[in-house]
Amino acid sequence: IHNDLRQKEKLAVIGQMAAAVAHEIKNPLSSLKGFTQLQQEKDKGDDQYYPIMLNEIDRINSIVNDLLILGKPNTAVKTPKNLENIIDYVTSVIDPHAQRKDITINLDIKEPYFLLCDENQLKQVFINLIKNAMEAMPQGGTITIKAKPGSDHVKISVIDEGCGIHPDKLAKLGEPFYTTKNNGNGLGLMVTKKIIEEHDGNIDIQSELDKGTNVTITLPTTQKNG
Ligand code: ADP
Ligand code: MG
Repeated sequence: IHNDLRQKEKLAVIGQMAAAVAHEIKNPLSSLKGFTQLQQEKDKGDDQYYPIMLNEIDRINSIVNDLLILGKPNTAVKTPKNLENIIDYVTSVIDPHAQRKDITINLDIKEPYFLLCDENQLKQVFINLIKNAMEAMPQGGTITIKAKPGSDHVKISVIDEGCGIHPDKLAKLGEPFYTTKNNGNGLGLMVTKKIIEEHDGNIDIQSELDKGTNVTITLPTTQKNG
């Protein structure tokens, strides 16, 4: 038990350092992006490398943002929110990208559910899950988002018809930096898991190779008043 505590303290310190470093990187990174964009304007006609540079800067930024969330202790500020509003917002942001990739997003949420939650963090969760679903379907297809009621909770599933996950690899999903993508960072599911746990929920992933993946999140519901 003593060793376990020491280990936990160590991990907490490493997490805080990662968050502090991530925070320090954000400002110089943002000026680097700004000046890169300015230079791109100047070099019109000879600007083939700028999109790559800007894309790479965005990637560093997304890693830094994920590390910030992962390194910090629970920062959720919770208020009652309607689940459907959160999902509607996220799908409206993603829909244009989905359409370009021949992906349809189907919503199946029949009743209102109220969650005591940090709205921005839950938006992040659904963005991460829908992005993974899209990236699993390079040829297009359908993503279904379903909500099913329980006595004091709701089960929300994000279901895709994509490449699926090999059974041997399922266990690796919680590991930091595990990615099968060229431009992935392997932090999305860790961030998702952390946010869901901080909302007293849990996450379950079922997958079949070449058939698709079903990620189901269970979250406690609250009385309507917000
Ligand atoms: P990233 O998306 O940056 O790779 P994630 O933590 O979001 O990082 O996901 C880790 C890995 O889990 C992915 O690289 C992919 O191999 C697998 N994965 C996650 N979601 C899905 C999905 N819906 N379908 C297939 N594979 C998935
Ligand atoms: Mg991802």
